[in-house]
Amino acid sequence: MLVNWEVIINIISKTIELSKKEKEYTLKLLKCLVQIDTRRLYAELGYSSLYEFVRDHLGYTDGETATRVNAARLMRSSKKIEIKMDKKEITLTQAALIHSNFKNESTEIKERIADLSTGKSKRETQRIIQNETSPAKTKTLRLGANLCQLFEKVQKNLDGASDYETLKYLLEKELGEINPKRAGKLRGKERYIPLSVKRKLLDRSGHRCEYKTAVGVRCRARSNLQFDHIIPIYRGGESHYPNLQILCSAHNLAKGVSVVDES
Ligand SMILES: [Zn+2]
Repeated sequence: MLVNWEVIINIISKTIELSKKEKEYTLKLLKCLVQIDTRRLYAELGYSSLYEFVRDHLGYTDGETATRVNAARLMRSSKKIEIKMDKKEITLTQAALIHSNFKNESTEIKERIADLSTGKSKRETQRIIQNETSPAKTKTLRLGANLCQLFEKVQKNLDGASDYETLKYLLEKELGEINPKRAGKLRGKERYIPLSVKRKLLDRSGHRCEYKTAVGVRCRARSNLQFDHIIPIYRGGESHYPNLQILCSAHNLAKGVSVVDES
């Protein structure tokens, strides 16, 4: 059989060119996602998170969405890493891996892992991450029934604070590092919403975020719902039914941002 080298070379150079373009477009897409995330533009479109926007509006699968959202968040976290990604020193997959494993760590740590991962394969990057996240730094606590009961009692006093918040509160209190302003906020009696009112609010909202966009599109979020004071407590709002609404965490946070902006 006669090999047509011209055709083969053509296909290969076309493939190389397209792959280069694909990487460039991915970078451009990530930069737009960073903007959408920073300004919470997804909330304007009625989505409760960047993740929901990418999956449902852009039509990516869950896996593709997680990769893009994680990579965008890593890019957003550090100018140094953004430059690294621009220069294609780390790939989309590597960026996503680093973010999903170190999202609660400092920028310095993320930058260090990104440096270590430069020019490495996916598997090598996974190994680097594994070394860095070895159990030496974490601690798992098991509470027996008695301790559990005490812990939950404290938690109730803190108006349903999370496990993390409760333990942090107790440790900081022991070490005398509690900021009185924050402790007040965590404990605040004014924030207390009676269970009957909470039930009424959930019924009214149909267990769904009550946020509506300017054109009246209602948010679809049914998870991470929070009780929100329409007029904030620090502005004299009260924990009464008419001053309360159900918001998803994204819209509650977005509201916090705009309240801070206007004052
Ligand atoms: Zn919402």
